[in-house]
Amino acid sequence: MKVLCKVENELRDEDNKGLVIMDLNIILLGPPGCGKGTQAKMLTEQYKIPQVSTGDILREALKKETAMGLKAKSYMDSGKLVPDEVVIGIIQDRLKQSDCQKGFILDGFPRTVVQAEALDKTLKDMGKKIEHSISIDVDDEELLGRLTGRRTCRSCGAMYHVLFNPSKKEGVCDACSGELYQRDDDKEETISNRLNIYKQQTAPLIDYYKKKDILRLVTGTGKIENIFKRIKDVLK
Ligand code: ADP
Ligand code: ADP
Ligand code: ZN
Repeated sequence: MKVLCKVENELRDEDNKGLVIMDLNIILLGPPGCGKGTQAKMLTEQYKIPQVSTGDILREALKKETAMGLKAKSYMDSGKLVPDEVVIGIIQDRLKQSDCQKGFILDGFPRTVVQAEALDKTLKDMGKKIEHSISIDVDDEELLGRLTGRRTCRSCGAMYHVLFNPSKKEGVCDACSGELYQRDDDKEETISNRLNIYKQQTAPLIDYYKKKDILRLVTGTGKIENIFKRIKDVLK
């Protein structure tokens, strides 16, 4: 027996007993710095579904110096998009893993129409589809301030902001005591490149999902907890 997604999410919120589940397949869409990673981490706790971040997967590959990581490096350093076929391959492998079978949160993928089309096809072949594509809206000035002040934990990937969301002890992760660092691509000159690329290549996806009637618009300014509430509301 299947229950409505809405009811299921509420049940999962209350007791996490893994009752009858309908997939909760979500995309978080929005420019660099809009809060996709921050919100994705909160959603994984709430709904017990994994965050799938192509940025995190690529950074991990780079750290391990795999062939894919080394290939991606020059693109990432200059703020350009890694070629579609590379990230599509990553996502196809990742979505097949067992932890994604009851739902997932895509963070930073898709970023081009070609990626979105490939995702649709991959999911269709798996008998799945995206239920909600949540577009988080924040203006450029605020994005610049958020990205230049972002600090990321080297060990667990948690995100902080030197002013808006500081760790308790400077340079140290609250969650795991790992070292906080500034990503190479969070420097001002690279940021403007990334924002331009978002406008040219990724923003067209807003229309793409609007036409499919699964676009949900969320204002991305204000307190992190309030944005989280807005996202939970659109999922109900
Ligand atoms: P942010 O969260 O700030 O938007 P990400 O961690 O998602 O940044 O991405 C960092 C970089 O990794 C991007 O600038 C790009 O070079 C690469 N990347 C991540 N996801 C994709 C994707 N779906 N397509 C192409 N490149 C990607
Ligand atoms: P994205 O994954 O979309 O690139 P992040 O979640 O990494 O964005 O957030 C970018 C930066 O902005 C981080 O330093 C984060 O702590 C901070 N941030 C996230 N949400 C908010 C918010 N609502 N207000 C202020 N700063 C925020
Ligand atoms: Zn950490």
